[in-house]
Amino acid sequence: MSGVLLQIKNLCVDYVTDAGTARAVNDVSFNIAAGETIGLAGESGCGKSTLAFAITNLHSAPALISEGSILFEGRDVLCMPDDELRRFRWAEASMVFQSAMNALNPVITIGEQLIDVILAHNAVSYEEAYGRAESSLELVGIHPSRMQSYAHQLSGGMRQRVVIAIALILRPKLIVMDEPTTALDVVVEREIMDQLYELKAELGFAILFISHDLGLMGEITDRIGVMYAGNLVEMGTTSGLLASPQHPYTQGLLASFPTIHGPKTRLEGIPGNPLNLLEIPEGCYFQDRCNKKTDECLLRQPELIPLQKQPSHQVACVEVTGL
Ligand code: ADP
Ligand code: MG
Repeated sequence: MSGVLLQIKNLCVDYVTDAGTARAVNDVSFNIAAGETIGLAGESGCGKSTLAFAITNLHSAPALISEGSILFEGRDVLCMPDDELRRFRWAEASMVFQSAMNALNPVITIGEQLIDVILAHNAVSYEEAYGRAESSLELVGIHPSRMQSYAHQLSGGMRQRVVIAIALILRPKLIVMDEPTTALDVVVEREIMDQLYELKAELGFAILFISHDLGLMGEITDRIGVMYAGNLVEMGTTSGLLASPQHPYTQGLLASFPTIHGPKTRLEGIPGNPLNLLEIPEGCYFQDRCNKKTDECLLRQPELIPLQKQPSHQVACVEVTGL
């Protein structure tokens, strides 16, 4: 791993609606190093997809970035002119969305969709683009004869591979994957993740991997961040965070997942419901569901603070950090 690739600084994203303003990403800061794989976990509705869209400046109304910056190799993604942004999106950072399998154009062949992306960004001949499209399909384990197929002629797993091939075709340095395999069965999911990892070893891109599946995340990430109601509440190395989760929310989240090998235990879950972002409490956002709540927690949402004995592990909880 080398230098910093992406720097997210004090990012706030609001949804401005008739019912009020919901802050889906609240003062989030973290870096992604070149070649690093970062996982982002948290309950549905905690702001993961909103953050993913903001990173590639793909958010649209009613989402509004009200504060912060997103620097990719030092350039602010939020201030890029349109032509630079277009280049940035495929060639430097690409995305695989939750519903990406359905994002393929149903009336254009797979091959033409790959070729379109190549020709839009490179001054190469059609034949050259065709050849590159074929090899990018081979890269994700799909036979080049599938160039002539339409999306409906492929299985869900193959469609998702095609989407990954499109995301990688210009060799970006970062790929943002938002629940990329959630719609697939576990066997196909495993195949795709293994293949993604081989590609990563070969091509060296960084990944922001968003999922609610902490088990899968534990296997493939270098670091994990946990979000609750728009806040990044804990971040650490994958091994450190999974072995010794510090935030009461992370502890609850991990206790909600079964282990296959350990003794049979009753899963704990987290009491209460996720926060309504239109009704933010004074103090810590997690206070109503927290089993460690004290009077200190009523004062403010704590900042992410490095642990003294393990500075790579940061936690936003007064009870843990004392700050
Ligand atoms: P996640 O991906 O973690 O499930 P999202 O980023 O999709 O969460 O959503 C975060 C929050 O943003 C939601 O809880 C919701 O309150 C709000 N939100 C998302 N999309 C919209 C929208 N189009 N209009 C208003 N609020 C929205
Ligand atoms: Mg989402």
